[in-house]
Amino acid sequence: MAGLALYEAKEKGRGRVVTYRAGMVEMAERRRVLEGELAAAVAAGQLELHYQPLYDLPDRTLCGFEALLRWNHPRHGIMSPAEFVPLAEHSGAINQIGAWLIEEACRQAALWPSHIYVSINVSPVQLRSADILRQVTAALDRYRLAPRRIEVEITETAMVEDSPEIAVALAGLRTLGVRIAMDDFGTGYSSLAHLRAFELDRIKIDRSFVNASQADAGAVAVVRAVTAMAKDLAIATTGEGVESEEQLASLIALGCGTAQGYLLGRPLDVDSATALVRSQQPGQRGDRDMTEHASGGLLAAFAS
Ligand code: C2E
Ligand code: CA
Ligand code: CA
Repeated sequence: MAGLALYEAKEKGRGRVVTYRAGMVEMAERRRVLEGELAAAVAAGQLELHYQPLYDLPDRTLCGFEALLRWNHPRHGIMSPAEFVPLAEHSGAINQIGAWLIEEACRQAALWPSHIYVSINVSPVQLRSADILRQVTAALDRYRLAPRRIEVEITETAMVEDSPEIAVALAGLRTLGVRIAMDDFGTGYSSLAHLRAFELDRIKIDRSFVNASQADAGAVAVVRAVTAMAKDLAIATTGEGVESEEQLASLIALGCGTAQGYLLGRPLDVDSATALVRSQQPGQRGDRDMTEHASGGLLAAFAS
């Protein structure tokens, strides 16, 4: 998106030449307006969490959900976090949004059975302040939630950013018992050495590797190397963006522990996620049709 490209160039700052392209002024104006609206979105109740199911492999048991932000914008309809999270990081609104999200995710997790965990995405901007530790501690307390029910996802680029504040925040969360996952592994300035340097509970292998054609020997080699190394280091792995049975079979063969993707289920609103949890309770499997519509590939998930 041209607007985001400009935005990025601005963010990255000096020394970057940005040539004018049609629509840039309009995009800048749209961003300015959205940033203002975003500041009020939490109080206006326009933010929502959707939940994408996570399945343990090889038996495909529902083990958790990733909480994904949606902005129900009065004029633009449902907006993707890919568009508004960068704006919120820029304006600082991400701190308020993050506080709301932690509270909401913990409240919801406490309503689900204890074998279900909820994973939340955290921006490096949030991790640079000590507030996040206080927010998580308070929410766990308030909802009497076991810390292991919450996982925090942070991209590897943010993790390797040499910031003592981020290292302290992550160590603090881990001391609480909250699990830490490295998101989008393979897309940043990563190296396998980072897996040893950070105290991690999980690596989420980016969908660009999982989704690649099985004929792409390079992508398969990356997934194989990461799962093998993670296993040796006793770190869990999740394969992201699984869209076909073939990709799922490959993850299982390579020893990946958890999977996520449209094949298994799209992000669901909270009621559909709760219906899915209920349909998966022992003895309730006969109810599975109930959630077929809401979760897309669910029926396929049970086909085997
Ligand atoms: P992510 O953390 O990598 O989240 C997964 C994204 O991939 C989600 O998009 C999800 O809908 C999409 N996805 C899941 N399965 C598949 C699949 O099989 N195929 C394809 N093509 N896509 C799949 P979404 O919800 O639009 O989120 C985009 C990104 O926005 C997230 O990427 C994450 O980086 C960010 N984000 C989402 N929620 C939050 C949040 O609460 N806080 C922060 N800071 N960032 C968030
Ligand atoms: Ca994520
Ligand atoms: Ca990801």
